[in-house]
This record gives sequence, structure tokens and C-alpha cells, in this order.
Amino acid sequence: MAGEPGEAMAHKAFDTILVLDFGSQYTHLITRRLRELNVFSEMLPCTQKLSELKFTPKGIILSGGPYSVYEEGAPHVDPAVFDLNVPILGICYGMQELAYRIDSENVIAGTHREYGHAMLKARSIGGHVDRLFDGIEESMRVWMSHGDKLAKLPDGFHTVATSDNSEYAAIAHGSRPIYGLQFHPEVTHTQNGTVLLKNFAVGICGCKQDWTMQKFLEEAIAQIRHTVGEKGQVLAAVSGGVDSTVAAKLMKEAIGSRFWAVLVNNGVMRLNECEQVQKDLSEALGINLTVVDASQEFLDGLKGVEDPEKKRKFIGGKFIDCFEAEAVKIEEAAAHDPTKAGKIEFFMQGTLYPDVIESLSFKGPSATIKTHHNVGGLPARMMNGQGLKLIEPLRSLYKDEVRALGRALGIPEELVMRHPFPGPGIAVRILGEVTPEKVEIARQADHIFISEIRKAGFYNQISQAYAAVDPSRAVGVMGDKRVYGYIIVLRAVTTTDFMTAEAFNFPWDFLQRVMNRIVNEVHGVCRVVYDVTSKPPGTIELE
Ligand code: GLN
Repeated sequence: MAGEPGEAMAHKAFDTILVLDFGSQYTHLITRRLRELNVFSEMLPCTQKLSELKFTPKGIILSGGPYSVYEEGAPHVDPAVFDLNVPILGICYGMQELAYRIDSENVIAGTHREYGHAMLKARSIGGHVDRLFDGIEESMRVWMSHGDKLAKLPDGFHTVATSDNSEYAAIAHGSRPIYGLQFHPEVTHTQNGTVLLKNFAVGICGCKQDWTMQKFLEEAIAQIRHTVGEKGQVLAAVSGGVDSTVAAKLMKEAIGSRFWAVLVNNGVMRLNECEQVQKDLSEALGINLTVVDASQEFLDGLKGVEDPEKKRKFIGGKFIDCFEAEAVKIEEAAAHDPTKAGKIEFFMQGTLYPDVIESLSFKGPSATIKTHHNVGGLPARMMNGQGLKLIEPLRSLYKDEVRALGRALGIPEELVMRHPFPGPGIAVRILGEVTPEKVEIARQADHIFISEIRKAGFYNQISQAYAAVDPSRAVGVMGDKRVYGYIIVLRAVTTTDFMTAEAFNFPWDFLQRVMNRIVNEVHGVCRVVYDVTSKPPGTIELE
């Protein structure tokens, strides 16, 4: 039942295009492009049994994939796909799969592989191009990436577009809304690819373009109320990060103070952060928030711990202990509060769609579908022991949709655009042992760096930025005196998905200004360096 509320809500309330994933690296782009068109779309593995679907999609798209349909062990779609009587669009492998399903002789290895650009010509039949190409000029640049091809047209199909190399660049069934494309309309290299996807989803499948965060918000609130009931109560951990803040505000709108947010101060938050989050969430957003100050316990426990994994483990474990202890207190208070008087039955988590996709993606013919591991999730003993049910209201959203939802909820722009911050906080931004002195240095340096970034107007161009402390010390001269101080490492990266990243290209005078302020204002530091490493090989955090 995990996450059912979020999912059920989107299926029920929005016309849905189902994308079946055959393992292409572009599959999630299909979903993204459709959502950018305000059409709700969801991805499931290609092995999905269609009779087990909990909803009826308005249309189905079969994605590309690295396999050859004719090879042994290649993944195949549930043959029931043809019986659902909804429009189908096969993209590359997806088209080959449709052809193969009709007759396995239809697909062969091509004599030459085709990667990159091709010119597509839509074929005009009786003076018209196919409705899939409505509004598109007769020829357009498309992007191809395939080695296999159709040997002949599948029965009942005709060609609707060709390219120099592909006689069957786009095909359509004569009497049913079934289409195949040899190229990838979801990648930006394909000109008008979005128009084509729109023609399919809106023109052919008849989807309403009503997937907006305003509408989602209304539906989500109704759904949460329905799930939680009149008296039910919900508990959550918040961090001040975008996801937990947006989810918390959404819960607050839905059930008011029957939603309980807990912020654990772990002693390794940024400068004034705990106070700031308290102000933002509790005062500005009206969320029922309890702050647990466990900073001393965390700092005591971190004494002498140098290994990054041990630091993370300790912080994660301690966090759960603190949270659990607080939950018990809240449960008691909740049970005795006559205005609420319901049991805490749910635990809310700000899981996003990319995590869900990650656990669902098709990974190969022998794919074991990875079970979703939630960072910061509650330990099984609490979920099972106290019978808490999971509620994940952001489960169907991408990060930028969460931000848009935050705006729809009236959350200030500064919070909505916050950079991500790791759970173990600045503990992983202090190489080696964490001491109160180094925490203070990291805080001060980070504060200067981030304030300067904001002042210079770079904040929203950067995906994540921070200052870290390298405790190996360097020699410097300050006021004619030899000093021996820590090294501050500045890191700022740009990325779209956090899987790969590049260092941000700061102007030189900006870096000098930051260096100047840090060595002058932060006691114990005599050198500042800028980390220019990309990811890979570097990770975004240092530890
Ligand atoms: N593997 C298939 C081919 O080479 C499909 C490729 C794809 O879907 N991009 O033709």
C-alpha cells in the first residue's frame, strides 16, 4: 500500500498516458515531455501485466530499449496491449516490438546502424499528412539511434514518414490508432518532437491538458483528507529542504494541526538554520512543528569518529532514536487532545517520482526490480511495531513540479529554490573528525560563500554550493605573523539530475572576494581553494 494515496490520486484525477519502459536511457524523457504539455504520464516496466493495472490509461507508449526484439531473452510487452483498445505509440524498440508481435519475421538487423540526425519526410496521402504530423512542416530533423529495422510493413500498416535510411521511419495502422516511430521524438535533438507527442496524447488519445500544480493541489488535498479521515493524524520528519517543506505545507492545508512535523537539530545544521527553519515552517507557513534540540548528543557522539561511513551511520541512527522518542511523546499528546483525539496512523515521507522510477525501471531480461530504499525512512520496527502507514503525497512529482507545487501553496521563492542539503549536514563537509570548532568554521565560511552567491545573483544558476573544511592545515602569513590554519574548500556545481555535474564557472573576482572575506572573517582559516572537479569522478559532497 506504500504511496497508494499519491498514486491513486493522479490516476483517478488525470487522463494518463502510460509509458512502458524497455530500458532506454530516454524513457523518462517521454514522461517529462508529456507532463510539460500538462498531460499526466506515468512510467511502468515493460513487463507490467496489463490486467493488473489499477487504472485505464488513455494511451500507451512503448519506449526504446537496448535489446533486439528477436534476440533470446529480449523483453516483450504483454500481448493484451492490443486488446485494451487505447491508442499505442511505439518508439524505436517500441515500434520494433509492435511489428515483432504481429509477425516475428518483421524485424531484422539493419545493414548499417543509424545514429544521430536524419531528415524525416512526412508522406502526404490524399493531400494530407497523417494527424500525427499535424502542424509540423513536411520535413523535419529527427534523431535516430538504432541498428535494427523493419524488414517489411506489418500487416494492416502503412508508411506515414520516411528518411533517407529508413523506409519505415514512421508507420500507422490503417484502421486502428497504432503508431510506430523509428526515431526518438522525446529528445530535444528531434525538431518538433514535442508537437508530435502532443498530437499523439491530445489529438489521438484525447487527453485533457489539465496536469497543472494548481489542479494537483486541489486533488491532493481531497485525497489526503480521504485517506487520513476525519480524525486520523500524521507524523513526519522535516529538514527545511524543499521536498519536506512542500509536503508538510500540503499536509497542513489538508488536515491542519493533525499533521505533526518534527525537526531534529543534529548540531550539524548550517549557521542559524534551525531557527530559520522554525521561523519559516512554524511562523510563516503555520505548520504544527516540534523542534528537538539534540545537538549536544550528536556532537558528543561524533567525537573521535573519522570514517565518513561511520559518521553517516551514527547520524542516521541517532536521528531515528531522537525522532522515535519524540513520536512517542507526540502520540501521547495527540491521544489526549480532545480537539484531535485520533491515533497517529500515518507517517508522511516526501518521496519523489525519480525515486519511484528508479525502483521501477526495467533493468534487463533478468531484471530484479529493486525495492525502493528511502533515505531517512523510518525503521521497520516503528512502521510495523506501531502499525504506521506510509503516506507519500509527492510520489508522482518531479523536482521541478514539487517547486511549482510549492509556489502554488504560497511558499516563498527563497524556500522553493533552496539547494539540497545532505541529511548528515555539514558533518560530511568536514573531512575527518567533527569537532565543535570545525563546525563553527564550516558554518561561518559557508554562510559567507552562500551570501556572496546570492548577492551576485548566481544562486539559482547553481544546483548546489557549500564550503567545506579540510582539517589538514596550511601555513600562511597574517599580520606579519606565521599562522597555521585550516583550508576551506569551496564547491559549487551545476547539474540537472545530480547524476553528473560540473563545477560552476565563477568570475575570478568573485572567488577572490569570497576568499578575502573568509580569511579575514573566519578565525582559524588561512587558505581558500575552489574545487573544480566534475562528477564523475568527484561526488558532489566531499564525503
Ligand atoms: N536496440 C534496438 C536497435 O538497435 C532499439 C534501439 C532503440 O530503441 N533506441 O534498433
